[in-house]
Amino acid sequence: MSNLIDFTSKFGESLSKKVKLSNYSWFNLGGDAEFFFKPRDKTELLEFFKEAKKNDIKTTFLGAGSNTLFRDNGVKGAVIKLSKNFSFTRLIEKDIIEVGAATLDRKVAEFAKENNLTNLEFLSCIPGSIGGAIIMNSGCYDYDISQILISIRVIDKKKCEEIEIKKEDIKFVYRGNNLSEDLIIISAKLKGSSDKKEKIEKKQNDLVHKKKLSQPSQIKTCGSTFKNISKEKKAWMLIKESGCENYEEGDAVISKKHCNFFINKGKAKSSDIENLIQKVKRKVYEKTKVNLELEIKILGE
Ligand SMILES: Cc1cc2nc3c(=O)[nH]c(=O)nc-3n(C[C@H](O)[C@H](O)[C@H](O)COP(=O)(O)OP(=O)(O)OC[C@H]3O[C@@H](n4cnc5c(N)ncnc54)[C@H](O)[C@@H]3O)c2cc1C
Repeated sequence: MSNLIDFTSKFGESLSKKVKLSNYSWFNLGGDAEFFFKPRDKTELLEFFKEAKKNDIKTTFLGAGSNTLFRDNGVKGAVIKLSKNFSFTRLIEKDIIEVGAATLDRKVAEFAKENNLTNLEFLSCIPGSIGGAIIMNSGCYDYDISQILISIRVIDKKKCEEIEIKKEDIKFVYRGNNLSEDLIIISAKLKGSSDKKEKIEKKQNDLVHKKKLSQPSQIKTCGSTFKNISKEKKAWMLIKESGCENYEEGDAVISKKHCNFFINKGKAKSSDIENLIQKVKRKVYEKTKVNLELEIKILGE
């Protein structure tokens, strides 16, 4: 117990206890985090990992929470969310940008545009942070972050050391990669190509417009619930084909505009979303023999 008191007092304002996770997920759902840690800088983050290891405290990483459902009983141990000091954009070469992992994707897209760099426009369509985008290999309309990534800087929570990993040493797949779950990304280098600002702006506006037409906005969702099977066979098609479009569980419903988007209509519980997920998964399997795989991450007890 006294060890734990030492542990909590050591990190001052960066560490809080019993924090409502619903405020940190786009679903607006979930119980409390036992501890919530927002490191000021990487020195404090490294120190935290050492102490968490000593005190046997589990750690979980969070970006902008646009792909994460927290369970109703919350998360044991510490949820780590990088503070605003990990949000920055820097032009380090003519066509290379260094960004903090907490930087929102759309800010990176804006920064690239301001510096006349193309191929990063798709980031303006993704509501998360760069750290989350790399873990998820996020993308849309034939672009994904692996195509523009050069390298990442990470801290290994077990070894308590900082390392740089080149893109070539990471195996990216659709909406994922083979990075160890022990690594927290703290920054990344991204590469663009020089182009005219007006052209970049048009491309960016076109993508945002296309996205608005096909997907709902201003709702409590984490985007696509399931991964697509292939370019031709999308998860929403299977959901539609299986006749689950109107399924609901309590206040957990399916978007009328895009049936792979599940929504908290207001008073849903996380368990309602999970039950809806299971119900749809079962029906799709029954009808099509396809086992849908989750794109969203579910964390907690
Ligand atoms: C309306 C809407 C539209 C969306 N459209 C798209 C789309 O077009 N394409 C697409 O790919 N996705 C889309 N998404 C899903 C989501 O925005 C992406 O997956 C996004 O990249 C997640 O980033 P995040 O920072 O919110 O991650 P979180 O939800 O916070 O975390 C996701 C995962 O990344 C891990 N993680 C986050 N940060 C770090 C870090 N610094 N180091 C290590 N691990 C970390 C977390 O542990 C978790 O496993 C959409 C979501 C919404 C709500």
